[in-house]
Amino acid sequence: MIVMKFGGTSVQDEEAIGRVISIVKNRLPEKPLVVVSALSKVTKLLCSIAEAAEAQQEDVVKESLASLRQRHFDLAKALLKDSPLLLEKCLGDLESRIAGLETFAGGVCQIGELSPRSEARIISTGELLSSTIIAYAFNAQGISCQWLDARRMITTDNNYLNARPDLVVTEANVKRVFGMETKGFDLVLTQGFVASASDGSTTVLGFEGSDYSAAIFGMALGAKRVEIWTDVDGIRSTDPRALDSTRRIECLSYEEAAEMAAMGARVLHPLTIEPARNRNIPIMVLNSKNPACAGSTVLRGEESPDGPKSVACRENVVFIKVHSPKMEGITGMLARVFAPLYSNLVPVTLAKATESSVYLVIPEDTDGLEAALAAMEKWAEVTVYRDKSMISVVGRNIVGLEGLGDRIIEASGKVYIANVSADMLSENFVIDRDRLAVTLSTIHDYIFNR
Ligand code: ADP
Ligand code: ASP
Ligand code: MG
Repeated sequence: MIVMKFGGTSVQDEEAIGRVISIVKNRLPEKPLVVVSALSKVTKLLCSIAEAAEAQQEDVVKESLASLRQRHFDLAKALLKDSPLLLEKCLGDLESRIAGLETFAGGVCQIGELSPRSEARIISTGELLSSTIIAYAFNAQGISCQWLDARRMITTDNNYLNARPDLVVTEANVKRVFGMETKGFDLVLTQGFVASASDGSTTVLGFEGSDYSAAIFGMALGAKRVEIWTDVDGIRSTDPRALDSTRRIECLSYEEAAEMAAMGARVLHPLTIEPARNRNIPIMVLNSKNPACAGSTVLRGEESPDGPKSVACRENVVFIKVHSPKMEGITGMLARVFAPLYSNLVPVTLAKATESSVYLVIPEDTDGLEAALAAMEKWAEVTVYRDKSMISVVGRNIVGLEGLGDRIIEASGKVYIANVSADMLSENFVIDRDRLAVTLSTIHDYIFNR
């Protein structure tokens, strides 16, 4: 069997869902599990509903719910116009979910308080709605499709908005549900992103988490491969939204794909790789608007060639220098720098140290950062450089790209820190944000279009 995940743009409207149906039809002999995201922009809309409810803006909540209802009803009507009975049932299912959301958001509005648990429940609705419509659409095309609630299968901790799965329990759930409820169907369909804690309350896997769901299902089912269907021709040499001249990467290792995600490439959710690597399941990235393109395949390291594959960017980072001439040994220094970062839950993108200085790169919008810096300022000179970006060249055995450093300095004007990752999977450069675009295009051309 295989897992096929379709992202928000791949299911955004009638035409896109028509493409999904024809892509899946071609794979029916491989017994696909289809995993779908919410329709594009719906998760954002649900987040705004949650916020407005907390702020007790009843009118805004009402208006947004009306547009949510309209979009899903219109889509169901378009897809099921030739199957009046299915349409009636589908509209009934959608209405009961939206009415449930309405009541729940109304409750939040009344008390003006939004817990992470309530927010997860609100924003999970997008996938529950989209998957309902798409399952009916398959059935209307004569493909018998079993809709499964992912919350009965993926069991997580109760970190509601960024929940982490218990893979052992999840695997057992998936096997049990599949064993009992999927016989006789052409196709099984479920939601990405949504899951539940062990007490049954709804959780979500974090933004863009549907890729992760697909990999979790792939692992649990021992899938032959996991296909991530999106809106670009596979994983590219850099974000095609940033540059026109990108190239498709035919094949890359799990480690390279994970490094790209960690260094800011948005194409795959960073946690997607691990469950697949665990069971050696290839991940393919494919374009639902151009299914003829072979896309990219992520697999075991030895099957991927050495050398630079891609340039990834983290647009908004701060660069921090912590200097203490008085510190005698590096051990104490590192412990004193990292303790407040850890206690304030500050993620560190990159760190480098000398005996008396530590250099840090940290995502700009990090809540606990100011508190961590204040703690360090009590004993060290702390210099914070804002409005920086980090640009990373990613690829197996990356070292020794002759001339790269010179070109980066030339294009960016200044490199605040340069680093080669310990596993030699990436070279990273911190530069001024206003020079990011020109630096990206210069080094991308230098590496890939020479
Ligand atoms: P989906 O809705 O299918 O999950 P996403 O928007 O999450 O799609 O991811 C696809 C987007 O990732 C592409 O449209 C592209 O702009 C972006 N992206 C960033 N870096 C890369 C890269 N190296 N290769 C391909 N796409 C990339
Ligand atoms: N719908 C969720 C989001 O927009 C999950 C996903 O699409 O991967 O983040
Ligand atoms: Mg995505």
